[in-house]
Amino acid sequence: MFTEKIIKELSGYKTPFYYYDLTLLQRTLDAVKTESTKYNYHVHYAFKANTNPEIIKVISKTSLGADCVSGNEVKCAVENGFDVSKIVFAGVGKSDEEINYALDQNIFCFNCESLQELDVMNELAAIKNKVAAIALRINPNVDAHTHKYITTGLEENKFGINPYEFETVIEKLKQLPNLKLIGLHFHIGSQITDLGPYKKLCLRVNEINRFFLNKGYDLPVINVGGGIGINYHEPDKENILDFATYFKVFHDFIELRKNQELHFELGRAIVGQCGNLVSKVLYIKNGINTNFAILDAGMTELIRPALYQAYHKIENLTSSSKSIIKYDVVGPICESSDCFGKAVELAETKRGDLVVLRSAGAYGEVMSSRYNLRDEVRSYFSE
Ligand SMILES: *Cc1c(COP(=O)(O)O)cnc(C)c1O
Repeated sequence: MFTEKIIKELSGYKTPFYYYDLTLLQRTLDAVKTESTKYNYHVHYAFKANTNPEIIKVISKTSLGADCVSGNEVKCAVENGFDVSKIVFAGVGKSDEEINYALDQNIFCFNCESLQELDVMNELAAIKNKVAAIALRINPNVDAHTHKYITTGLEENKFGINPYEFETVIEKLKQLPNLKLIGLHFHIGSQITDLGPYKKLCLRVNEINRFFLNKGYDLPVINVGGGIGINYHEPDKENILDFATYFKVFHDFIELRKNQELHFELGRAIVGQCGNLVSKVLYIKNGINTNFAILDAGMTELIRPALYQAYHKIENLTSSSKSIIKYDVVGPICESSDCFGKAVELAETKRGDLVVLRSAGAYGEVMSSRYNLRDEVRSYFSE
């Protein structure tokens, strides 16, 4: 994707910056649309993956709903024209203020994560004389086989309501007239690259769905969350996820009743590949066993490698050297974890070269910070 023309254009911008390919984003959205409508599935964009205004503007023009995890994300969705009847609000720690704001907007559904939250939600809805539509976020105890910091569906995780609490929840709901249970919600983790855990999830959903039906709850909404992973190692080979295969797993294994809708919440799979972090090499420093390439971007711009040992493909865009050398590619921040990759093979690199960290569209710019009083990271867009 980095043609001579683009590299020339990028050389004119002040580094570091995010560079987004809006054409790829649009093609990805088209693929989601085509593949999900085959089964009438409902897809919500998980806002927390990327809330760059230009990205949100593109996504707002599709028919996707919004999956929000804070009051400000709900606000961002509302202000950008997302249909309120397609906004869901999840999170283990929703504040009263956030709940009140979302109640005022009449969003589609709150995904509730604890018994106590049900009480609070009921109380706040009662004050407004409203009935809040809720789904129970359930911890299905399915191992997503992903990094321990991004697995969410195990009993040891803080998220969701555990099956041993179901009887209590059902008794409680009978006493909470300002809540209407409309569905069940699941989200087992992120960057899941194997469809096995989703098949397991479907089977758990079927059991739990039957359990609630037996208790008299014929719920119209089943929401299986998101988390499907992207190809960080070979972004050019698979720049748009195979959504057909992903949705088909659910079609094959989930048992829905006629009145039931299936909902998804996708973040990374939508925006991950369209974003890149572009940086300039400040210094080459020869260590005892290794060469360091010190960039002007660091964990303040892209924290994923430091936070969960995430891999991003790194390329030198401007070197014309034929010799390949190994570098530890690091940032300028005063933390040892500020390292993008060890023993990364790059064309011989020198001060001033432009380097790109690929597949940085999800959980990149949104997680940037001003630690060390760094400048706010900029962003540029393809035509
Ligand atoms: C983060 C999150 C998602 C999106 O996860 P991705 O891995 O980006 O697809 C979906 N649902 C919930 C509840 C989340 O917290």
